[in-house]
Amino acid sequence: MPRSLVTGGAGFLGSHLCEYLLEKGHEVVAIDNLSTGTVANIEHMQCEQLRFIKHDVTEYIYCAGPIDYVIHFASPASPKDYLEMPIQTLKVGALGTHKALGIAKEKKATFILASTSEVYGDPQEHPQKENYWGHVNPVGPRGVYDEAKRFAEAITMAYHRFHGLNTKIIRIFNTYGPRMRPNDGRAIPAFIPQALRNDPITVFGDGSQTRSFCYVDDLVEGIYRLLLSDYHDPVNVGNPTEMTITQLAEAIIRVTGSSSEITYKPLPEDDPKVRQPDISKAKAILGWEPKVGLEMGLQKTVKWFRTEAMG
Ligand code: UDP
Repeated sequence: MPRSLVTGGAGFLGSHLCEYLLEKGHEVVAIDNLSTGTVANIEHMQCEQLRFIKHDVTEYIYCAGPIDYVIHFASPASPKDYLEMPIQTLKVGALGTHKALGIAKEKKATFILASTSEVYGDPQEHPQKENYWGHVNPVGPRGVYDEAKRFAEAITMAYHRFHGLNTKIIRIFNTYGPRMRPNDGRAIPAFIPQALRNDPITVFGDGSQTRSFCYVDDLVEGIYRLLLSDYHDPVNVGNPTEMTITQLAEAIIRVTGSSSEITYKPLPEDDPKVRQPDISKAKAILGWEPKVGLEMGLQKTVKWFRTEAMG
């Protein structure tokens, strides 16, 4: 039975990964400091194969026994969270990645880093390919996340080149689904509760900025395929269907049957104007592409918010 250690295992993506790995027959050790994650995300999976350790991965990570995969997903991930926890965000991207690489080296495990489309910043190339170096403001409010993840990529490649560690880097584009916190500040978990309450939908700026949203099940499948691949350079995984934020708000109003109106609020500093993954690499190397369309993904997510998050 393969044994996986998932940092951020009680978070949105981490918990979906734990669930998927358990289904694939892995034993899973989930580590989380619960700063943005919650045990409620994993308690329904309770079984002998799942162990939870409350720990901050910026400190030395100890885990007895063999580990085959280290899956490093610990980090605040929403702009609101990393603006509220700037130092912790920098620490987990830098020190936390170092510790996670350290245990992977010790255990001779395969390592995968959750990187992000934010490494492209406010991109001047569109759509974004992996060979684009990005346009990041290092001293702006988002710099704490973007630069931490850029450092995380650099140290991951250093462990690969210098120590021969089997590493992978996945650049994750906007992802949504059940278990996002309704107050995490991101567009989809903000808009769905607003729509369900028939409150105004708060679109920032003029709503013409674009994003491309991937349903969580598709993303998890892509992560797993990359984990098992023999590829080491970064790979974009996301859904290339691009839309404006106003179009997203309209889709959520439609899916929820809401009578909400759209209201426009100031655009946060350094908010990227466009974002769309070029996924030709993921298609070629992993045979992966997303299967769940926006309408279907939103329906599943809305159902979860109705029954679990706002119940
Ligand atoms: N956004 C918005 N209203 C909200 C939350 C976010 O209009 O209540 C916008 C945000 O300014 C950005 C887009 O939606 O342009 C996606 O934001 P999110 O925080 O989900 O992710 P990002 O891609 O910015 O990391």
